[in-house]
Amino acid sequence: MITVENLTKYYGPVKAVSDLSFTIEEGQVYGLLGPNGAGKSTTMNIMTGCLSPTSGSIHINGIDLFEEPEKAKKLIGYLPEQPPLYMNETPLEYLRFVGQAKGLKGAELSGQIRDVIAQTGLEHMKNRLISQLSKGYRQRVGIAQALLGNPAIVILDEPTVGLDPIQIVEIRTLIRDLGKTHTVIISSHILSEMQAVCDKVLIISNGTLAAFDTPNHLESILSGSDEITIRTLASEEQADALLSSMQDVDSFECTKEEDSLLLRIRTSAEDLRQFSCSLFFAFAKEQLPVFELTAHKGSLEDVFMELTEQTGTAGDETADSGESEEIN
Ligand code: ADP
Ligand code: MG
Repeated sequence: MITVENLTKYYGPVKAVSDLSFTIEEGQVYGLLGPNGAGKSTTMNIMTGCLSPTSGSIHINGIDLFEEPEKAKKLIGYLPEQPPLYMNETPLEYLRFVGQAKGLKGAELSGQIRDVIAQTGLEHMKNRLISQLSKGYRQRVGIAQALLGNPAIVILDEPTVGLDPIQIVEIRTLIRDLGKTHTVIISSHILSEMQAVCDKVLIISNGTLAAFDTPNHLESILSGSDEITIRTLASEEQADALLSSMQDVDSFECTKEEDSLLLRIRTSAEDLRQFSCSLFFAFAKEQLPVFELTAHKGSLEDVFMELTEQTGTAGDETADSGESEEIN
């Protein structure tokens, strides 16, 4: 449906996007995940024909976006990071204006406006001034304008940024619903958002594609990201001999504590629970008492950290988004 090939964008000397290639299939929700400055907005602005790349090509349903922009852009609805809303208009007036700009008129225009208002839950707000709407409702107006013209693809740049937790849940539900009838691409730097709404995640780091996979598979591809800790009365030699002989033990560390030995075992075992059982019985068989065993499953956050080499510090742009799992 969308093919992005060798996309590169320089802003003066700054390389924002570097040789990016990927394919988007029809009917799924895709997430562009990356820390601030990774190149998400630049990529989206180029994919929607709002910005020219330095080099590279994009085809939308086989149409070259840079050779036939008018035709290709009809297939895409876009909510930019800063939606261009007119504060002294009502949603109804604004949607009428955008619809006309997209070439709609008459019954077609009225019908589509009615549909997008219903789809985005704006019915009881459509006659208020946009300036008086909450940020959550303004975002709905932004999404509604993207849906006008009935595009097959909807691209939303950080649709939940700056919203309160309840609004975030509502907008995520709306995005999932959109995914049933559209191909949706959203960007975010919030990992839990990707797990909540996306079928596939593209991790972007420094303008390059670091990973492209399902949220669940991304969690599992990091070999040895799962960890089991065991407190045992075994000696270091005994633990070493036992763990060295076991399958699925990628690596382990022993730390001597006052009255026990702490083992941290990294594994890429497929079934973490099953592997925990195997460990437990292996120690029992050797008559080595285990009095604590904890399994920790590696998360998408671990994958993200490893792929983008982020330290998870700095940045306060989304301090008001109410999320605790975000990485700036
Ligand atoms: P993201 O949306 O992932 O936060 P952006 O695409 O906005 O990332 O930015 C990618 C990089 O390009 C950053 O280093 C940013 O500072 C730079 N950049 C973005 N827009 C401009 C611009 N108009 N002029 C110069 N540099 C820019
Ligand atoms: Mg951005």
